[in-house]
Amino acid sequence: MEEYDIIIVGAGPAGLTAGIYAGREGLKSAVIEKNLRGGNANTAPVILNYPGYKSIPGMELLKKIAEQAEKYTEIKENEEIKKIEKIDGKFKIESSKNEYLTKSLIFCSGTTYRKIGVAGEEEYVGRGISYCSICDGMLFKGRDVVVVGGGNSAAEHALHLNDIGVNVKLIHRRGELRAQKYLQEKLKEEGIPILWNTTLKEIKGNMFIESVVLYNSKTKQEQELKVNGIFIAVGEVPNSQIANDLGVEIDDLNYIVADRDQKTNIPGVYTAGDITGGVNQLVVACGEGAVAAVNAYNYIKRTE
Ligand code: NAP
Repeated sequence: MEEYDIIIVGAGPAGLTAGIYAGREGLKSAVIEKNLRGGNANTAPVILNYPGYKSIPGMELLKKIAEQAEKYTEIKENEEIKKIEKIDGKFKIESSKNEYLTKSLIFCSGTTYRKIGVAGEEEYVGRGISYCSICDGMLFKGRDVVVVGGGNSAAEHALHLNDIGVNVKLIHRRGELRAQKYLQEKLKEEGIPILWNTTLKEIKGNMFIESVVLYNSKTKQEQELKVNGIFIAVGEVPNSQIANDLGVEIDDLNYIVADRDQKTNIPGVYTAGDITGGVNQLVVACGEGAVAAVNAYNYIKRTE
């Protein structure tokens, strides 16, 4: 069984930054990632609020962060953590590929895109439904799509799709967006139509999506709209199950509870990034990753 000082769960901005700081403290660490390095930030069409870059695509920024992290930590991709147990003050990890023993853990396991739960949502993924405009947007150039959601992600997806020549409409279940003001102004400037008080009721199609049935909660009217694609951006669900199975405290929305040192209720277990809720921003995730790694280092030194 391989032994580490720190195992970091998740290779998004928080996990990769924690890896940089763990390495710089001279600790043996690994970042274990279920998918590929970068996390959800890879799907951000453009990032305008990460200090040092006026504008940078999410994938490009995360590639740079990962390249830097690789100098200090191992990054293990396509490896899913199945179980973690506490044994004699250390943590035993079973993954889909290996077993590890570590003195300390940092959960940076982020969030997964929330599903709407409408019939056909699962079946049409890859055949018209997408959660990532940067990944799939070009497939819809010159075609008609709707973006569902009213937050920053939905606004950014709509703007990106419009930029690359997709005919896009935004559908939001209420009469106002929760997206930041500058995004709302940009949507207006670009003339992107917003269907207010509207929900997705039904998806129709054969091999691919052909139309959607929309319901307006104000007028109580339904309308059918011909579309080739649906981009869904209705928020996120925290990936906190493995942490919670270990006994880590989560709140009523399933986010991991941490103090200002990024410490959880279990000694030696820290957390950072979107999994902790709060201000869901790249720069915050990176900052929390640094705090978590430094405090994990302090914990290891104290308990040696
Ligand atoms: P979000 O801010 O939680 O917004 C989710 C949106 O989806 C809300 O407008 C919500 O409607 C709607 N919604 C939720 N469930 C729905 C359902 N079942 N059917 C229809 N609509 C539904 O999620 P997000 O936009 O993915 O952003 C997640 C976090 O990342 C946020 O903290 C956000 O600030 C951050 N983020 C930041 C940036 C940036 O800084 N540029 C970019 C992307 C994301 P209601 O408004 O009615 O609740």
